[in-house]
Amino acid sequence: MIRETVRSWWIIAWILPLVVLSAASAKEASHEASGGIAADQVLKMLLDGNKQYAAGKLTHPNSTPQRRQQLVAGQHPLAIILSCSDSRVPPEIIFDQGLGDLFVVRVAGNVVDNLALGSIEYAAEHLGVPLIVVLGHEKCGAITAAVEGGGKAPGHIEAVVKALRPAVEKVKDKPGDKVENAIKANIELIVEQLKTSRPILAELVKDGKLMIVGARYDLDTGLVEIINQ
Ligand SMILES: [Zn+2]
Repeated sequence: MIRETVRSWWIIAWILPLVVLSAASAKEASHEASGGIAADQVLKMLLDGNKQYAAGKLTHPNSTPQRRQQLVAGQHPLAIILSCSDSRVPPEIIFDQGLGDLFVVRVAGNVVDNLALGSIEYAAEHLGVPLIVVLGHEKCGAITAAVEGGGKAPGHIEAVVKALRPAVEKVKDKPGDKVENAIKANIELIVEQLKTSRPILAELVKDGKLMIVGARYDLDTGLVEIINQ
């Protein structure tokens, strides 16, 4: 009898901490999956930060050594930004964000291939990031090359130009500035490509866990305008 009681206590002493621990980690996991803040709130935060930047009033949040230390344990970025590699369009600066805030994929012309898509899927699915911003910009050199260049572009630049041709083709008969029209068409096409991307992104959008918007950055004013939501 005494032996039985001692054995029961031993079992409780071992099992209880395990139950408490696994409950704690489940809570942590659900917090990650929810992304913490809703997508529309995140978008508002980014646009507010952009207004600060455009007005020359950057606040440089989350840039301290303390923030750096906090992030050693893990990242919980607010948004995924797919932007052009153009040196005039750095996402952390134009949205006035800091360390650990943005998960950024940059490629000339803000197009996606499988590597870029895999990176985006990782952030959306694994890190639970609730918002993707496809960020095109005024006077994009990659899109200008796709609009104006005849024939094949040199080296691997052709891969970028080729990815941009559907946007150029879509607006070729549209009146107005051909480059500007293609910039907007490209943003819209990439948003659509991500929204319908299977199996991961399309499912997250369908379940209401992911919002994908298109935006255009104006080099003159510094303002980001949402053009596709
Ligand atoms: Zn560009």
